[in-house]
Amino acid sequence: MARALSARRPLAWGVGCAVVSLLVACGEEPMPVPSATYETEHFLIIDFAQLDDPAIQVVQARLEMEFERVSQALPTFTPPAQLLARIVPGNGTPFVTPAESSLTLWGDSLTLDYLPHQLTHLFTRYVRRAFLEEGLAVYVTELLLPDLPTVHPYRGQTPHAWVSLFEDHGSTIPLLTAFGATNLGYNVNGSTFDASSWQIFVEGGSFTRWVVETHGWDAWWELFEVDDLAAALGTDPAELQSLWLAEARGRYPTPLACEEALGTVGVREEFWCARARGESVATRVTRSSPLQDAAPRVRMRE
Ligand SMILES: [Zn+2]
Repeated sequence: MARALSARRPLAWGVGCAVVSLLVACGEEPMPVPSATYETEHFLIIDFAQLDDPAIQVVQARLEMEFERVSQALPTFTPPAQLLARIVPGNGTPFVTPAESSLTLWGDSLTLDYLPHQLTHLFTRYVRRAFLEEGLAVYVTELLLPDLPTVHPYRGQTPHAWVSLFEDHGSTIPLLTAFGATNLGYNVNGSTFDASSWQIFVEGGSFTRWVVETHGWDAWWELFEVDDLAAALGTDPAELQSLWLAEARGRYPTPLACEEALGTVGVREEFWCARARGESVATRVTRSSPLQDAAPRVRMRE
């Protein structure tokens, strides 16, 4: 049931310095004065990228549509009354800053297929372990966009299929290690840390699907609340891992090879595939990344 989208409605010209200084604080170039600000039912949209009318209307409609779909997928959560969506010039992966209930999109690469992932983070406010938060966001995306296995970072095949590939190579990051990861920050230039983080996103999505399909949503919400695998699911982690991996392997016995699934392969993907094949296998999932070391004042999540 779609809620009505309020009309395109410019609110103001020249938004104050708070947003601009935030972007500076996050390490980005200073932004120009926003071209316009719009308000829809659930979003305040500040456009720094000077999108034309058709483009801004597409963004407004997709934001409201995905808000509704994520609401239905996550009935347990009450989202913030209003979410802030910034559109900035340039190319990049959308990110959220849970502390200010905001989402940042890049005007030259409006990857709106990422919205279910990002909105899931804003609904939950990202209060639990990265494995649970990212796993939920990956799974919600798989639910809402089942025929679109292109969404970064789990593109090319389903999370279960990726896990099946990891099992082929003996490179699966153990469940307890992944579950305990405290930092999934990215180094987009490629690194072992980045490759391990990517793999934990994928494993988190696969594990979430398995829990929901075998134990039900109530069990998953219990896990999200208590943050304890055995307490929430009634089985010790080693057994959970065994059952989960067997299911993924059984459902996708012939996964695509890493490079084939990813398609375009650059430096970053080479690290991912080396990790998936069990090469360069150091699992650095709890140490700070170079990005985190840069210490942005506002926490961003991919
Ligand atoms: Zn995420």
